[in-house]
Amino acid sequence: GLPDFSPAVVIGTGYGAAATALRLGEAGIPTVMLEMGQLWDTPTADGSVFSPMLSPDKRSMWLKERSEMPLASFLWIDINTNIERYAGVLDRVHYGDMSVYLGRGVGGGSLVNGAMAVTPRRSYFEEILPDVDADEMYGTYFPRANAALGVNEIDRDWFEDCDSYRYARLSRKHAEKAGYRTAFVPSVYDFDYMRREEAGEVPRSALDSEVIFGNNHGKRSLDKTYLAAALGTGNVTIKTLQEVRDIRRSADGTYRLTVRELDETGGTVARREMGARHLFLGAGSIGSTELLLRARDTGTLPGLGEEIGQGWGPNGNVMLGRANHAWDLTGTLQSGMPALGIDAWDDPDNPVFAEIAPMPAGVELWVSLYLAITKNPARGHFTYDAASDSAKLHWTAEQGQASIDAAKVHFDRINGVNNTVYRHDLFGDTRAFENRFTYHPLGGAVLGEATDLYGRVKGYDNLYVIDGALVPGSTGVNPFVTITALAERNVDRILAEDIRS
Ligand code: FAD
Repeated sequence: GLPDFSPAVVIGTGYGAAATALRLGEAGIPTVMLEMGQLWDTPTADGSVFSPMLSPDKRSMWLKERSEMPLASFLWIDINTNIERYAGVLDRVHYGDMSVYLGRGVGGGSLVNGAMAVTPRRSYFEEILPDVDADEMYGTYFPRANAALGVNEIDRDWFEDCDSYRYARLSRKHAEKAGYRTAFVPSVYDFDYMRREEAGEVPRSALDSEVIFGNNHGKRSLDKTYLAAALGTGNVTIKTLQEVRDIRRSADGTYRLTVRELDETGGTVARREMGARHLFLGAGSIGSTELLLRARDTGTLPGLGEEIGQGWGPNGNVMLGRANHAWDLTGTLQSGMPALGIDAWDDPDNPVFAEIAPMPAGVELWVSLYLAITKNPARGHFTYDAASDSAKLHWTAEQGQASIDAAKVHFDRINGVNNTVYRHDLFGDTRAFENRFTYHPLGGAVLGEATDLYGRVKGYDNLYVIDGALVPGSTGVNPFVTITALAERNVDRILAEDIRS
């Protein structure tokens, strides 16, 4: 069940939510976190918590009858499989020309993501959020977030010798031949654990192809870092399979939530109400935006403004594959956690940061795969659809074209110098570039627009957005460090000015 009231309620358990809850708990504020997904800590009959990556079972996906891998096909063969409908860990939400991958469960995206923990370039951070004090961010909050997340760096000597990153060294060789530089990417996957995986000393996870359906070992997901610390304060509790549906305001100024309790197949167990004095929305770019839009357009929070639902972007995500020559082997062992990127962000016309992604199938595929992050100024927006009682994202394929064009400039050059070609068999049809999905949904309740400069929602007191919805569509690198550091900054201010006083 749920308590009838809590001084603070945090919706979601992803990055923004976890950082906020820890600091509220440390300050002695009783805090309830409401998470629609499950807690992932109990092994099932096969001895593991999460589904195997290459033969997905019901644990892999959120309420789907078929797995939905980002690579839809190989040699045009559909690689997805039928599964049982279940409250699994990875969701893919479809909106016309764009679909969004999301983590569901205690830890949100940290359960399914690639663990790349990248602090954005300061000059770009200043460009996207010019009114946020960058000295304070880079002096205090990015270091605080990196420390609490458990970010670590790969041992460079091991990288050069290991089998696990042969695929990354091959891509580096091809990139350097074309005049590009590469950069190592910090991670919240424990690189020392990975080294012991390769040495055969511990059970394999990243080296057993695990990534998007959860890691059974090695990853410092939020349930092991921020959320464990939050629970350790004794002031924070987490309620699972609780989906917040509606938010309204009582006459006394507190918030009332309608919460749907789900069973493991998505059915409704109960609908309950719960109250909060301070309400923090950490349901992610998609989830928090939807809650606010529904509240505005159904009239439960009519004072919300036009900025809600605006300023959304996919962080310029584009995926592509290159075909390698027969003599250029990526290796059959590929770490599921990327550790290197091709850094062309300084290119004034086509800034691109392309992570060198694994294709961990356990056999040599002669493919180099990339997830490029590009700087695309196009933005989508959401509207509330009353018929389905949900938010609809408006984003067209044309809006994503600039991202493909930018990635193509660089990979054409890399292919040209190395005499290689694109793969056309990976994304369901014959396209070489896939930009119809994103791992990095950002925006919808942008900092300084839908909220003030600390995430306080305009038009209401004691109502906050604390997650990726604050980031204006792009951060130039993988986003979770940015989201976490902004949450650290904002909760500091909110505690000082709105709660302690
Ligand atoms: P989320 O982490 O999305 O958390 C939101 C939580 O709220 C979820 O647990 C959700 O179930 C819950 N929720 C939603 N709606 C409700 C509701 N109504 N009621 C109750 N609970 C609700 N980023 C990186 O920086 N590095 C990477 O390597 C990386 N790789 C990725 C790989 C994949 C496959 C994916 C999907 C993402 C990846 N990302 C990566 C992106 C990163 O995970 C997200 O940017 C990040 O998780 C967003 O954090 P957040 O706090 O905004 O919300």
